[in-house]
Amino acid sequence: MNIVRVALDVPLSSLFDYTVEGSVAVGQRVIVPFGRRQMVGVAMDCLATTDVPPERIKPVRQVLHDSAPLSGELLDLLRFCSDYYRYPIGQTVMSALPSRLRSDKPVISKPVLIYRLSARGAALDLDIFPKRRVVQLRILTKLAEEPCNLAQLRTLSVTAGAQLKVMMAEGWVENVALTKPHISSCGGGAQQHTFNNVHTLTDEQLQAVDAVTQPSGYACFLLHGITGSGKTEVYVHLMHQVLQRGGQVLLLVPEINLTPQLESYFRSRFPDVNLTSLHSGLSEGERLLNWQQAQEGAAQVVLGTRLSVFAELPRLALIIVDEEHDSSFKQQDGLRYSARDVAIFRASQRGVPIVLGSATPSLESYHNAQSGRYRMIRLTGRALAEARLPAVRCININQTVMHHGISENLLREIGLRIALKEQSLLFINRRGYAPVLMCGGCGWLSGCKNCAGKMVLHLNDKRLRCHHCGYQLHVPHSCPDCGNADLHPVGSGTQRVESVLQERFPEARILRVDRDSTRNKRTWKTMREQIHANEVDILVGTQMLVKGHDFPALTLVGVLNPDSALYSSDFRAAEKLFAQLVQVGGRAGRANKPGEVLIQTAFPDHPLFRALQSHDFDGWAASQLSERKMAGFPPFMYQAMLRAEGKQEQEVYGFLNTARTAGVALQHKVAILGVVPAALPRRANHVRAQLLIQGEKRKDLQHFLRAWQPLMDALPAKKLRWSLDVDPLEF
Ligand code: ADP
Ligand code: ZN
Ligand code: ZN
Repeated sequence: MNIVRVALDVPLSSLFDYTVEGSVAVGQRVIVPFGRRQMVGVAMDCLATTDVPPERIKPVRQVLHDSAPLSGELLDLLRFCSDYYRYPIGQTVMSALPSRLRSDKPVISKPVLIYRLSARGAALDLDIFPKRRVVQLRILTKLAEEPCNLAQLRTLSVTAGAQLKVMMAEGWVENVALTKPHISSCGGGAQQHTFNNVHTLTDEQLQAVDAVTQPSGYACFLLHGITGSGKTEVYVHLMHQVLQRGGQVLLLVPEINLTPQLESYFRSRFPDVNLTSLHSGLSEGERLLNWQQAQEGAAQVVLGTRLSVFAELPRLALIIVDEEHDSSFKQQDGLRYSARDVAIFRASQRGVPIVLGSATPSLESYHNAQSGRYRMIRLTGRALAEARLPAVRCININQTVMHHGISENLLREIGLRIALKEQSLLFINRRGYAPVLMCGGCGWLSGCKNCAGKMVLHLNDKRLRCHHCGYQLHVPHSCPDCGNADLHPVGSGTQRVESVLQERFPEARILRVDRDSTRNKRTWKTMREQIHANEVDILVGTQMLVKGHDFPALTLVGVLNPDSALYSSDFRAAEKLFAQLVQVGGRAGRANKPGEVLIQTAFPDHPLFRALQSHDFDGWAASQLSERKMAGFPPFMYQAMLRAEGKQEQEVYGFLNTARTAGVALQHKVAILGVVPAALPRRANHVRAQLLIQGEKRKDLQHFLRAWQPLMDALPAKKLRWSLDVDPLEF
């Protein structure tokens, strides 16, 4: 009998011992009894003996051989994450796996079916195909371009599955099972691939590529390149070099919406390379298949969102983190990891280079690059000689006529662009019509009954909606407090901006892009196509519009209400705003037309806007860093946040205060701040509060957390939820 130590998806910090006949490989999945259930787990260790008394130890029910064992390297990475982020090892290990591998049902990897046109289908004349068979026509057109799987075809229509059956019965479409490509040797070795080298690199790009490829072993590079400087081109050339040597590349991107675009872009540059994506938008089956392709080394490039940082990559030779400053690399629940930081650990574990790319690096990365921990690579010019950075101007909202939040100056500029058949974009970080409804009689505000926040007015369907808990109401006809009928919206959201524009430019084609207008994934895709086809004159949108999308006809960007971030209690608010405005400004004038950014503000002389106007990231970063240093904030300080929420205020504060006292008693080299209400002190009828810990050294903070957490685990906390967030981004 051998003993196997198993990681299970339970909120306990330990592993669990079982006996097993024969042997189990470390990293293999096993099914074991746990309490009255049976659970799937991962063998973390094989031992000869255990402290568990023989009468209590149970045997493993089954060793699963349906998927290759996890590598020791991945298990080490997960052990590190569990320890660093103070999250139970079993839950850490299991949350890294695709859901199919987390279930106790055996994995039957169903082959993914690829659909393509049959000879008869290819012979169809689409010009005379009945126009009312819209979906069929779309599918035929798409398949004429390339064979697709069902998930890809579903993006054309929800009825794609049913229509495919019809079309297969007609004999127009056939399917083939995609079998995993056979890899003769996983040991590496040069492989040939086609590389469409469409650009001659600029000198700066060339230097960047050389800098990353020259050293061997681990090194972390910060690729700081202005928007349009051609960072993607640098990635492409780096990939090419790694692929030539038979290595795998992991490319992390922040936004799931961007993956299809990027995927097809990289595919166009490397047409015969196995490029695989990993993100939560895939079906369970696809995610498993893609994960296994990475694990087998068949996937040469893995493109994914933060979860892909845990993909098995036996020949990993390069990691790229695009838009490294983006906060979506940080997971906000469960294992609260930063995929960027885990990627850096991973690169050093494997001894390979990692490139962090951004036009507006996080101050953490920037500081590390300046202090020499990372190596700084700069791209200071735009790749296309004729493309210039946009001109940035401020409009003082106190010195101009305003129309429900839009200034006369901005409206005039939009009018000019419409006449020129160019696009404008208005950026406002609030959806809905107005952030709050107010009574003119008594000053009543539309608060949420469950939360400390306000209910947002949505005029389209005449509702008040809480964006925190989802609670909604019909818009009242009169004030619930005083009965006055004089209720009016305060402030503007995307819907209100849209209606002001409609009134002013009745002929213009206006497109609103926010979470309400793009509930359905396909709509956003269709909208992007409309924008590209120049079927839109004015875009109104939230940060959804900011990231990564190229809109060639766009020449004007208006920023509507940035001021609240200037004096926010969140010390990162200004950093985020700067990054957002650079990104959104970068959307303007990317083709051969110069762009212009107009910012509506009451503080036109604020240093942030000054820095934006002169495109001076370095100056801005230097001033922010010196403020952070003086105030004792990251990157000069390491933080962890203890959060708690529950129905009873007493319990929540009681727990945090007890935890605090226990922490102080440890007498470690950390500062334990006071217990304070969360930024949103009540959400969905739960009281929320928090406690911040700071240490001057990462090591000190980690040392403290290791000692502190078991004390908290031991506290009674039945009626509340608490969590530790290491390196928190949200306050
Ligand atoms: P970034 O990601 O830095 O914002 P991109 O990689 O999107 O910039 O590049 C901006 C534009 O410049 C793209 O249209 C790209 O095709 C083009 N480009 C990049 N490198 C070169 C080059 N060396 N020569 C010509 N065009 C280039
Ligand atoms: Zn009232
Ligand atoms: Zn609410």
